[in-house]
Amino acid sequence: MTDSQLAKLRDQVDEINLQILDLLNKRAEIVLQIGNEKKKQGVTRFDPVRERQSLDLILQKHDGPFEPSTIKHIFKEIFKASLELQEEDYEKTLLVSRKAHPENTIVNVNGQTIGDGNQYYIMGPCAVESYEQTRAVALAMKERGLKLLRGGAFKPRTSPYDFQGLGLEGLKILREVADELDMSVVSEIMTPSDVELALEYVDVIQIGARNMQNFDLLKTVGSVNKPVLLKRGLSATISEFINAAEYIISRGNDQIILCERGIRTYERATRNTLDISAVPILKKETHLPVAVDVTHSTGRRDLLLPAAKAALAIGADVIMAEVHPDPAVALSDSLQQMNIPQFNEFMDEVQAFSKKLS
Ligand code: PEP
Ligand code: MN
Repeated sequence: MTDSQLAKLRDQVDEINLQILDLLNKRAEIVLQIGNEKKKQGVTRFDPVRERQSLDLILQKHDGPFEPSTIKHIFKEIFKASLELQEEDYEKTLLVSRKAHPENTIVNVNGQTIGDGNQYYIMGPCAVESYEQTRAVALAMKERGLKLLRGGAFKPRTSPYDFQGLGLEGLKILREVADELDMSVVSEIMTPSDVELALEYVDVIQIGARNMQNFDLLKTVGSVNKPVLLKRGLSATISEFINAAEYIISRGNDQIILCERGIRTYERATRNTLDISAVPILKKETHLPVAVDVTHSTGRRDLLLPAAKAALAIGADVIMAEVHPDPAVALSDSLQQMNIPQFNEFMDEVQAFSKKLS
């Protein structure tokens, strides 16, 4: 074969490559249309029966020099790429996604602009037990310029016989202390019917891990004009977590802080496993600020500081931890709450670390 014949054949191959490329892109356009239609109808994108039928048809018609297994492999790759394309397009349409909204969302809690690049701290007792107990923690926070006071009034406890929280009385205590000291209240609400009540007393509605997929609750807090701190479910994937936030934003409320609080794994050295890589993933995939709860993730007082440093280093906007004037007698989470001197030490170290980072 002469050189010019060889060059001619190569030109033909190049030409066919371009035709294949053109056909692949035409195919992709149609696949995207199908994806949109499936989304409208609410059906899943992956359809193994349909994929099997398409492959059978291709293999029936195939009589070329390639092995059938090679053809099958090539087409399976094309199918996979198409599915990914549909998924990418679908992600883009999520309102919480960065694709839909590239700038960071700033959650404004009475002038504290969470998500603005500064680090914020949500501190306070696990549960509100009394006015004096709450005020003692709030005063220690106030001395350090911290304004985001947490405390559980409605407590989702594993056992129905454990302390369930003071309920409305607890919300009233939080509000009174916060008003007195010019602070903001972060507190968990567990049922949709309590959301209206919460509007009067809290500045940030917390949705606890156990309620991350309480869709009625998510829809209700999505319809009110109040920031929400959404905690990751005990066994929720990041995608499920993001979709839970989507329930809130889809009702009009974009004032959402996502909170990684550890997930259930086989590891028992810590109460949960802090999924530290969730922080940059959530920051990359969504435009929402991200908090890390070092108390419930580690369940260990000796790990609060290293976990908080890791969270700040990896880009968390907020650190949450529990503080109690006398943890030994706390009605919940007595093992991992810090007392006030420990809280001060923790803040000294964490703030010095955070300064080094900036
Ligand atoms: C809490 O923060 O008070 C709490 C109960 O945490 P979680 O929902 O993450 O368990
Ligand atoms: Mn707790």
